[in-house]
Amino acid sequence: MKATKAVHTILDAADFAARKHANQRRKGSAAEPYVNHLIEVAELVCGALNEPDVNLVIAALLHDTIEDAGVTREELAERFGAEVADLVAEVTDEKSLPKAERKRLQIENAPKKSVGAQAIQLADKISNLRGIADSPPADWDKQRKREYVTWARNVVDGFTAPNPLLEAEFDKVALRLQEGFADAPNPPRVSHVIDVTDEEIRSGKTGIGVVGGVRPPSWLRSQGHDVQK
Ligand code: ZN
Repeated sequence: MKATKAVHTILDAADFAARKHANQRRKGSAAEPYVNHLIEVAELVCGALNEPDVNLVIAALLHDTIEDAGVTREELAERFGAEVADLVAEVTDEKSLPKAERKRLQIENAPKKSVGAQAIQLADKISNLRGIADSPPADWDKQRKREYVTWARNVVDGFTAPNPLLEAEFDKVALRLQEGFADAPNPPRVSHVIDVTDEEIRSGKTGIGVVGGVRPPSWLRSQGHDVQK
């Protein structure tokens, strides 16, 4: 794809996503326009790539359109091509399932995701954790934030080919949050996922979500990362 065409297609996707999510806002205390999240995720993915990947950046911009804006895979395929549509479909939760099952499936399916889908989901989690750190929903206490971080880490730890730059950024923001939890009680260790969803992060409505018996977090396992203590 020629550079001019690539830039134009990326802007078309940003315009499409902004319009489809026009009535949504992030439900953190700052109530940011939803498109801020989409651009942040796309910027994270783009900035972590060694080689340009226009379709991956476009899919990052569109990553919530099927799940949250009523767009179909077919519509995306027609406008942006099958590769973009497949990537977006791959990072879309099945909304007909109960929330707890969707959360469990994100963890279970993490190792099966394509490299591109893993990058988008990792960037999505980074954006959500940054939101919790900088503009948390008003009714979230430390325990609820900690439970979301624990769940997100369980998903990320399942990725088989996480982008190293994105993984390091995830570790950084997760650690920043964890430091704020130091005086919060430990989350209960349960053997199943309860329900905290990305959707609830966006909506500010949550249940409780904890997974027990999991591997240590990646920032404890990894040796190579420049993790600030
Ligand atoms: Zn998202």
